[in-house]
Amino acid sequence: MINKEIRVRYAPSPTGYIHIGNLRTALYNYLFARHTGGKFIVRIEDTDQARKVEGAVENLIATLKWAGLDYDEGPEKGGDYGPYYQSERLDIYKTHVDILLQKKKAYYCFCSAERLTALREEQQKQKLNQTKYDKRCLQLSDEEVSANIAKGMPHVVRLNVDPSSTIKFKDDVRGDVEFSGEVVDDQVLIKSDNYPTYHLANVIDDHLMKITHVIRGEEWLPSTPKHVLLYEAFGWDVPVFAHLPLLLNPDRSKLSKRQGDVAVEDYRKKGFLSEALINFIALLGWTAGDDKEFYYIDELIKSFSLDRVNKSGAVFDIEKLNWLNAEHLRRKSDTELIQMLRDDLKTSKYSGNEYSDEYLLKVIHAMKERVSFVQEFYEKGSYFFEEPASYEEAALKKRWKEESPAILSKYSEKISTYENPVKEDFEKILHETAAEMNVGNGNVIHPLRLATSGVSGGPGIFEILDIIGRDKTITRINAILEKLK
Ligand code: GLU
Repeated sequence: MINKEIRVRYAPSPTGYIHIGNLRTALYNYLFARHTGGKFIVRIEDTDQARKVEGAVENLIATLKWAGLDYDEGPEKGGDYGPYYQSERLDIYKTHVDILLQKKKAYYCFCSAERLTALREEQQKQKLNQTKYDKRCLQLSDEEVSANIAKGMPHVVRLNVDPSSTIKFKDDVRGDVEFSGEVVDDQVLIKSDNYPTYHLANVIDDHLMKITHVIRGEEWLPSTPKHVLLYEAFGWDVPVFAHLPLLLNPDRSKLSKRQGDVAVEDYRKKGFLSEALINFIALLGWTAGDDKEFYYIDELIKSFSLDRVNKSGAVFDIEKLNWLNAEHLRRKSDTELIQMLRDDLKTSKYSGNEYSDEYLLKVIHAMKERVSFVQEFYEKGSYFFEEPASYEEAALKKRWKEESPAILSKYSEKISTYENPVKEDFEKILHETAAEMNVGNGNVIHPLRLATSGVSGGPGIFEILDIIGRDKTITRINAILEKLK
């Protein structure tokens, strides 16, 4: 057997946002192509005029870029290339449908919308399992067809399905799949607006683009017999199919907008790292067969195979995504983290402030084990960026004692004698203050923490003080004393 180059495609319809499931389809195609040294193609299936959404393609391409899923070819576009657009290939579909018409594998249908509705209602009344076109227009003679067309009668072109046939194909996830021709409708191939339907354009392009493996979501499985019939009608080789399992909510219902975010955009906006989302999505329906959960894309490329894709639905577990985000964040280098934090701060209320790399790095080191998202460096660690605006109610009740003001004043007085106190000095002063005031360390630490951070948790108090420095410590002590007077 000649070793054919593996060629796969991601073929989104630009109808709005990108569903997480679509990104998974893109990812699995990408991983398969990279793993096998094949080609990954992006094809925009934009022949459905009614469903077109302004800006959807741009958003799609930007999302792929963000996710790092670069494609390999496509027509020249302003110094760049690709993706392919079906709307630019309409002539190709037209020529091909003519071949099917000649071969009598397809036929013109002039039935009105009213007739089709009546037919459907009648079939539903008879409680037939499935509503199907009744092939009425197949009876028309060539002369009748030509006359109708000459009259300008609206029409579609339909696939001529033999109900007695059995349609078989190989699916790398599901094994051998079989459908009876009985359940396959005479699919419309060319609509009355002259545009091809998804089925026709998809098959023609997959063939012309030499696609070897069609990897897509399970929702396309029922369409596959129609596609196989089209390949056969043209006399073309059928590609290998791989239908990816459904994505489910934790209650095993289909992942839907109602129960949470399903658009990649939503996750991006929330500050998820592309590496984490990719890592997470890779595991939605695929496993390397061990317990490994943390992956960089290179490792995914190395391990990915279609035979390890599951048949059963994959549950979307947001907790796991959060965990992966934290893991990926933690493993970033200091330089990367500084840059990420800097970029993020620009979009925050602290955008007008200047921070040195050295300062940001101290914050990063203090907070790294406590955050899952970049923005949490300044949300959970807001006290590194501004004075506390309020004090945690419960902690105040528990920790703020009658003697707290005197203790804090003492602490403040002592540090003011230092030129530039460091962590050890802050600690030493604590011990001195506790001894002189004749109290336990906790009686100094807790009020001090509240005064300087406003909250009861967080990094070690001396680390916090070291980062904010002497002057801010004193100001914040003065502020709490003033506020709680
Ligand atoms: N255009 C289809 C979609 O929006 C592509 C399905 C396929 O991959 O064949 O998902």
